[in-house]
Amino acid sequence: MTTDKTKMKFIDPHIHVTSRTTDDYEAMAKAGVAAIIEPAFWLGQPRTHVGSFQDYFSSLVGFEKFRAAQFGIRHYCTIGLNSKEANNEALAEQVMEIMPLFLAKENVVAVGEIGFDDMTALEEKYLRLQLEMAKEVNLPVLIHTPHRNKKQGTYRSMDIIEEHEIPPHLVVIDHNNEETCEEVLRRGYWAAFTIYPKTKMGNERMVEIVKKYGPERVIVDSSADWGVSDPLAVPKTGNLMLERGVPEEHVELTCYKNALAAYGQSGQFEESDWLNPDPIDQRTLFEGNSVLRGGQAPRVDKPEDDRIIQ
Ligand SMILES: [Zn+2]
Repeated sequence: MTTDKTKMKFIDPHIHVTSRTTDDYEAMAKAGVAAIIEPAFWLGQPRTHVGSFQDYFSSLVGFEKFRAAQFGIRHYCTIGLNSKEANNEALAEQVMEIMPLFLAKENVVAVGEIGFDDMTALEEKYLRLQLEMAKEVNLPVLIHTPHRNKKQGTYRSMDIIEEHEIPPHLVVIDHNNEETCEEVLRRGYWAAFTIYPKTKMGNERMVEIVKKYGPERVIVDSSADWGVSDPLAVPKTGNLMLERGVPEEHVELTCYKNALAAYGQSGQFEESDWLNPDPIDQRTLFEGNSVLRGGQAPRVDKPEDDRIIQ
């Protein structure tokens, strides 16, 4: 099988697939998404116990990786205390204590997503502590920039990162827009853009950004989660860029290679992981659990079969 308009492969380096369905996984694989990164984030309401974080982190490195593989997609994650929940200091302290254990797991490619939401003192405190933690474990950092006071929050985040002497090539600044990207790129960071349907970064606007700023250090992602969002945002935007005359090489950089280079710095994110994958075998179980229900026939690809995406 091939994708609609192109045989290009895609990486979605920011998607919360725990909140998505198996239909989404199937559609993503069909559209050419070969690998994804799921940043730890908040779940729509604040957690009240550190055990909830512990189980969430372990599902990111465990069950969700298994579930993605059942549909031919290689799953990685980032581990971090998100900005909203950094405002609960007692809980934040406990989360900081369990984080190193998870940061050491394979398939963890960065500390993130961390940064500012309301730009409170506690958000800043835990941003700084987690930047130091990233230095200790030698992992890249994924920065969430606030949706309100975007420009101020983005610049402040970069100032703080610079105070902690983390080189910009180790940091992905996400949720950029036309107002922030020039400065983010000028300072040497990876500039990621989230394609939300209808709001914020639409596909059309992303095409214009790549035309204006070029593909260097620009990364496209979906940030699809439990809200109104599109798990196919990366392949759709890639295809739209091609239609609008963006060179294929630039599409490859912004929708695949730049994410690979940025998160490859973790030593945990290698193309060979997904170029020659194990064949899909939905008879496989995770701690006794299957992705299939009620007597559904498992998909079992023979080793000699080509992958769904080529
Ligand atoms: Zn996110």
